[in-house]
Amino acid sequence: MANIGFIGLGNMGGPMAQNLLKAGHAVKGFDLVAESVQRFVDAGGRAAATAGETAADVDAIVTMLPAGKHARAVYTGEGGVIAAAAPGTLMIDSSTIDVVSARDVAKAAVDAGHAMVDAPVSGGVGGAEAGTLTFMVGGEDAAFERAKPYLEVMGKNIVHAGGAGNGQAAKICNNMMLGAEMIVTCEAFVLAEKLGLDAQKLFDISSTASGQSWSLTTYCPVPGPIPTSPANRDYQAGFTAAMMLKDLLLAQEAADAVDASTPIGAEAAALYRAYCDSGAAEVDFSGIIKMLRDMREGS
Ligand code: NAD
Repeated sequence: MANIGFIGLGNMGGPMAQNLLKAGHAVKGFDLVAESVQRFVDAGGRAAATAGETAADVDAIVTMLPAGKHARAVYTGEGGVIAAAAPGTLMIDSSTIDVVSARDVAKAAVDAGHAMVDAPVSGGVGGAEAGTLTFMVGGEDAAFERAKPYLEVMGKNIVHAGGAGNGQAAKICNNMMLGAEMIVTCEAFVLAEKLGLDAQKLFDISSTASGQSWSLTTYCPVPGPIPTSPANRDYQAGFTAAMMLKDLLLAQEAADAVDASTPIGAEAAALYRAYCDSGAAEVDFSGIIKMLRDMREGS
C-alpha cells in the first residue's frame, strides 16, 4: 500500500480521498477549510498543515482544486508541492482547469524530476462517492501507467487522452458538447409544449430516433420520462449551472488560444451566463429549461 498526499478535500476531493483510505492506502490530507479536514480525519486520514507538508515523503500526490490559479499556487508556489516533494514523486491533478495552466504546471513538475498527469473527471459527487468516476488523463505513458492503479480506486473508466493537458482538453470538449446539447434538448421540449406535443411522446420518439442524446435519455430536462433526472426534484443539482458555465468558459478560452471556431459553444456559454446571473448558479444545469420557457414570454 502506498503513501499518498491529497490536497483539496471538498465536495469531490473528500470522497475521493476516502476511497483511497478504504483501499488501504495511508493518506495525508490538506484543505483550507477545517471542517473538510476534520471529516477526512474522522474517516481515518492524517491531517497535514500545508500543501508542502502534504507532498513530502509520499509516493503520489492527488489534488482536487477549484481552478487553474489554485493549482498553480499549490504546485508552483513557494513551499508548494513541486518544491517539497521527493524527486520522482507522482503528481495527479484531478481539478478541472485551463489547458495552459495544466501544461505549465506539468512542465514545472517534470523539469523538477517528478512525473505528472492531469486527470480531470466526470461523474460528479455521486461518482466520487461510489468510486465510479471517469478520468480523462493527459501525460507521458510512464506517468499514466503509474497513475492508473490509484485512479482505478477512485474511478471506473480511465482513459489516456495523450500528452500533458490533453485530459483537460478532453474534458472541456466533452462538456462543450454536453452544454450545447442540453440547451437544444430543452428548447425542443419547450417548442413541443407550445405545439401541443406531449413531452412523453417527444421523449418516446426522439429517444429512439436521430435526436437521441445523453441529455435526453439519461438526464431528461422535463419531469417524467427519466425518474432519476434532476427535473423530477425541481432541478436540485446534480451538476450546477455554475459548473457548466465554468467548463464552457474554459472551452471558449481554449478555443480563442488556438483559433478554433466554436459559435454554438460561445452561445451556450452566453446562455449559461445569463442563467447563472438570474440567480440560478446553484441550480442543476438542466434547469435552464425554465429560463428558455420564460424568455419569449418576457420579450
Ligand atoms: P469544492 O470547492 O467543494 O472543493 C475544492 C476544495 O479545494 C475546497 O475545499 C477548497 O477549500 C480547497 N482549496 C482551494 N484552494 C486550496 C489551497 N490553496 N490549498 C488547499 N486547499 C484548497 O469543489 P469540488 O466540487 O470538489 O470541485 C473540485 C474540482 O472538481 C473543480 O475543478 C471542479 O470543476 C471539478 N469537478 C467538480 C464536479 C462536481 O460535480 N462537483 C464534477 C466534475 C469536476
